[in-house]
Amino acid sequence: MTFLTHLVCALCGRQFIADALHNLCPDCQRPLLARYDLAALRACWDREQLAVREPTLWRYREVLPMRDPRQAVQLGEGFTPLLPAIRLGQQLGLPHLWVKEEGINPTGSFKARGLCLAVSRARELGVQEVVIPSAGNAAGAMAAYAARAGIRAHVFMPADVPLPFRQECQALGATVTLVPGLITDCAQAARQGIQSHGWFDLSTLKEPYRLEGKKTMGYELAEQLGWHLPDVIIYPAGGGTGLIGMWKAFAELEELGWTNGRRPRMVAVQAEGCAPIPRAFHQGAEFADPWVGGKTVAAGLRVPSAVGDFLMLRALRESQGTAVTVTDDELLSAQRRFSRSEGIHACPEGGAALAALEKLVSAGWVQAQEQVVLFNTGTGLKYPEVVGG
Ligand SMILES: *Cc1c(COP(=O)(O)O)cnc(C)c1O
Repeated sequence: MTFLTHLVCALCGRQFIADALHNLCPDCQRPLLARYDLAALRACWDREQLAVREPTLWRYREVLPMRDPRQAVQLGEGFTPLLPAIRLGQQLGLPHLWVKEEGINPTGSFKARGLCLAVSRARELGVQEVVIPSAGNAAGAMAAYAARAGIRAHVFMPADVPLPFRQECQALGATVTLVPGLITDCAQAARQGIQSHGWFDLSTLKEPYRLEGKKTMGYELAEQLGWHLPDVIIYPAGGGTGLIGMWKAFAELEELGWTNGRRPRMVAVQAEGCAPIPRAFHQGAEFADPWVGGKTVAAGLRVPSAVGDFLMLRALRESQGTAVTVTDDELLSAQRRFSRSEGIHACPEGGAALAALEKLVSAGWVQAQEQVVLFNTGTGLKYPEVVGG
């Protein structure tokens, strides 16, 4: 069923067996990536077979890591609509603009994709307790999948996290600890539980399978656009799993012979108050220095330091893409235009993507005839204090 073969460190190339629990590479403390026997898969799997499969991310199960499909913990994740954004497109002069609407995923964000795979695979490998430091959506998604899997969830959140994020975790049965400070402080606090209780760490890119869940966005875009990839993808990036995951998916799709090798220009959007990736991109750096402080209402973008920084920067450069910053005022006013123009109650992170697209259109970086995909990564419902009327 799965064609998973092994794991490989994204930085040093060291290989690991796939059927054991792993966090970061023990040599260089960088992410491990799942590898599949794509040549064998190419010989027996045809993209036309997808037509009759279930409308969830599990339609791509051959390139997902589960050995035993019965261990997959499912809530109807993925295969979200790719909606033509006609009114926004008119405002921007872009007749070929789409929105990938991730707010309809279980727990209201695309974090469901990654946590679905991470929790499923952890349970398959025998894990009974999972832990996550999270500024919001990742925690809710983990709590949901852990509850459904029958394993215990421990969540460490910044004390100032909006109430709905916290309530969601508690409603789903997770143990929630509030930590003063940023997500990096939460990670520090979580480490204690990991060391003393052996909880398994599901932090962004610190285990290999959240990335596998998020990469399905790349498969879906290809399938939904008739196996032609768009010219530009605008992505609000925090830890970067979606950006890195889609870039991995595009490479796999080429190896499968399902797409023709013309890939999109990838755009990472961050908030001006926490922008380590745009800063490193424009400095020409291979890695991003940690951002000191880190302040934005877009909780998903408040990631001062990411272990996958070099993978995001590589994807931006290899794709001839770019990195853009927007202010909180810009992203909130774009969030309102997004919601009112398209009937999608966008999150502030989705607003950031729209604000960045507006800048790229005025700068001439995105041209009128190009096909553009804008990500709304979650619902606006969890941010009552900033996303108002
Ligand atoms: C986590 C999150 C992001 C950032 O996603 P990454 O793939 O981790 O970069 C963007 N938007 C929302 C709503 C999020 O929850």
